[in-house]
Amino acid sequence: MTIRFDNQVAIVTGAGNGLGKSHALELARLGAKVVVNDFGGARDGSGGSSEAAEKVVAEIQAAGGEAIANGADVSSPEQVEAMVKEAMDTWGRVDVLINNAGILRDKSFAKMTQDDWDKVVAVHLTGSEICSRAVWPIMREQGYGRIVMTTSTSGLYGNFGQANYGAAKMAVAGLMNTLCLEGEKYDIKINCIAPTAATRMTEDLMPPEVLAMLEPKAITPAVLFLCSQQAPTHRIVLAGAGCYAMVRLMESEGV
Ligand code: ADP
Repeated sequence: MTIRFDNQVAIVTGAGNGLGKSHALELARLGAKVVVNDFGGARDGSGGSSEAAEKVVAEIQAAGGEAIANGADVSSPEQVEAMVKEAMDTWGRVDVLINNAGILRDKSFAKMTQDDWDKVVAVHLTGSEICSRAVWPIMREQGYGRIVMTTSTSGLYGNFGQANYGAAKMAVAGLMNTLCLEGEKYDIKINCIAPTAATRMTEDLMPPEVLAMLEPKAITPAVLFLCSQQAPTHRIVLAGAGCYAMVRLMESEGV
């Protein structure tokens, strides 16, 4: 099966590193014009610049693709509105949104501060809501849209030290469920992915020999399938090994 994104515009948040970067590069290779968003902060969400996003844009342009860098903080409605306006002013539509930006502030619940909770919820949950809200009227008007949210097995099953992250990720799946109902009539499909990949987020959580096998680019085809025109349905939560299984089937049987 050949997935293409010609004449489509995609926004990928947190695309300066890891999974988001891999998705943005591949979307551009397959014909999409891409807004590469990243606020470039530290892993705990502090600081920031759009430098990482600019490097990814340079890589896309060097390969003959079209992209713009954007340094919006996804937890700021004003900055996200400005990002979406820039995409509309430049290319006139938004077909794909991948809510990928994320931070971690892992601590046992006994040590977790209110600020640790608030910041993680603000980026993962409210950030996904803010970005989806900003593209929603555009996708409704177009009668077409694909949104991929990033959830986590940490939310589905719990994980030590991740009360904030797990709760936010579970709620992201809840947001998907309602958006699916309300988006159906406009051909807006929303799916979730719960990836297991080697990124800044997982580098402390798994042994190096496991991480060596979990390259972000191995997950990307599954994500791009979910945000393509051929996306089979909506409301899929593709988790962990399921991502790899889907990619293998796409390769061997053209699913
Ligand atoms: P993963 O690839 O697993 O999502 P990374 O830490 O490699 O993990 O990538 C997450 C990206 O999200 C980072 O590049 C980070 O700068 C970005 N990011 C984090 N918080 C925000 C935010 N509020 N707005 C935009 N980008 C963000």
